Amino acid sequence: MTTSISLFDNLQIGGADIVLMMGPCSVESHEQVYDIAKSMRALGLHVMRGGAFKPRTSPHTFQGLGLEGLKILRQAADEFGLLVISEALGIAELPLVAEYSDIIQIGSRNMQHFPLLWAAGEQQKPVLLKRGFMSTVQEWLAAAEHIASRGNQQIILCERGIRSFDPSTRNVLDVNAIAQIKAVTHFPIIADPSHATGRADLVPAASRAALAAGADGLLVEVHPNPAAALSDGAQSLPLASLPAFVEDMRRIASAMGRGVV
Ligand code: PEP
Ligand code: MN
Repeated sequence: MTTSISLFDNLQIGGADIVLMMGPCSVESHEQVYDIAKSMRALGLHVMRGGAFKPRTSPHTFQGLGLEGLKILRQAADEFGLLVISEALGIAELPLVAEYSDIIQIGSRNMQHFPLLWAAGEQQKPVLLKRGFMSTVQEWLAAAEHIASRGNQQIILCERGIRSFDPSTRNVLDVNAIAQIKAVTHFPIIADPSHATGRADLVPAASRAALAAGADGLLVEVHPNPAAALSDGAQSLPLASLPAFVEDMRRIASAMGRGVV
């Protein structure tokens, strides 16, 4: 039994409908985010993702626009009636992310950053907790309990792939974990097929598998021009492919007796 989290009006995560959260890996410009927000609105989607504070493996790559990125996301989301999910990379930025976003994302690399989990547990907004890419399901659930221990029960889990021996994909989507989480917790669970595969060509199949396993939503990276993306272009769906992708997800959702929002 999943406890659903109400976002606004009739929108819930963990309820009857599957929630498709989409957006760029990194917020790059006003125009980029507006193009995405407009397409999402036209497809009847409600939650836009976008990284402003980025956890990049190398310090020599784009590190995100920071506060400016959050402002761009908020402005575009408000104009198109969308909600925002964005990552809080550290305790210092958490209040800013909570102010500008509707869902606070905690990234894979921070799954066991306990002081950050406690600080998120003191916020009033839903927290999306990504699985550490080398963490067990048990460690992940214990991390969620750290958030809950400070009073915030609005926790969404996100399976984003775990590291394996095989370099043919960036990570491996742990579909088992999605089914297991459904069986052992009441938290909603979504999947991130973008980081799980690292390849745009594999994102639709991984997404179908996640929904068939019972995921309550997806977190998908999209870009108007993936070849020019400042981060994660290889795994970003081109904006032009969204209508077909969403239609594909609606078919799977319908087979599961669910809708897509
Ligand atoms: C992201 O969603 O932007 C991200 C950095 O993902 P992860 O923490 O799963 O690597
Ligand atoms: Mn990314």
